[in-house]
Amino acid sequence: MLLTRGRRRQVDTATHFCPNPDCAYRGWAGWGNLRANGHPNGGPWRQLLCVACRRYFLETLGTILHGKHASVDLIVRVIACLAEGLGIRATARVFEVDPNTVLQWLVEAAEQLQAFARHGLHDVRVKQVQLDELFALLSAVKAGTVSAAEAIARLERSPQWVWGAMDPESKLLLAVDVGDRTLAMTQCFIHHVAQVLAPDCAPLFLTDGFREYLTALLTHYGQWVQPARRQAQGPLPKPRWMPLPQLLYAQMVKTVRRRRLVRVRHRVVFGTLEAINAVLAPHGWHINTAFVERINLSIR
Ligand SMILES: [Zn+2]
Repeated sequence: MLLTRGRRRQVDTATHFCPNPDCAYRGWAGWGNLRANGHPNGGPWRQLLCVACRRYFLETLGTILHGKHASVDLIVRVIACLAEGLGIRATARVFEVDPNTVLQWLVEAAEQLQAFARHGLHDVRVKQVQLDELFALLSAVKAGTVSAAEAIARLERSPQWVWGAMDPESKLLLAVDVGDRTLAMTQCFIHHVAQVLAPDCAPLFLTDGFREYLTALLTHYGQWVQPARRQAQGPLPKPRWMPLPQLLYAQMVKTVRRRRLVRVRHRVVFGTLEAINAVLAPHGWHINTAFVERINLSIR
């Protein structure tokens, strides 16, 4: 839509879109159908008008700030405080806010940040990925599964596994997930990593000796292969699920006795040792998972 009359618009509305489900412009940004309409009741947020469907909405619609009486400054500080590692109750005491409110803001912020991460982190091309899991006392709050009071109590501490995936070259953290140490969780985690990576990107994977990684990697980085006929006659052999030819995967198996590291062994699972060393050699590295372990210590 091009502006044909009136004075030039001062407010850029190109990053917003019309939320009306019946509007043809719904979900489309930058088509010139939105007009800024001032601040209703002298509030901090602008009202926007869609000239296609004549609906009004606030510019905060769909964000954590929508419909909140608390100031933006307070909400941002509370979330920053939680991000720094202060507990829910402690944060509530510092800012003199109800702990249930703090929990509500945390849950809303988490949803926004997840969407933001998906928007910004995709089609990543890396040569290596280090995977690791660490045991930590963490939150286990999912909407609806626990009451708010229970959630606040449990957020203080509950044992969980933190799964981390990282590119050691750029130190980019590709995925962080929380869950059990099971095959199902390994599949979820590898799925998350595969979604962040570009579809044709099959990097070198380095993990510890946890055996479920093999199944999960083979699931996501495999293909059906039709074996050749052994005889000229008879039915074709059944297709087999095989790792992609470019898939490289090595494990670091650590032996610990009386809390002391006594031995580290390398195990090449997919690919050849030469191919793996060719990826690592430009950096003067050997097979190791030291970088992601360092990150995990930071998370802890
Ligand atoms: Zn509209």
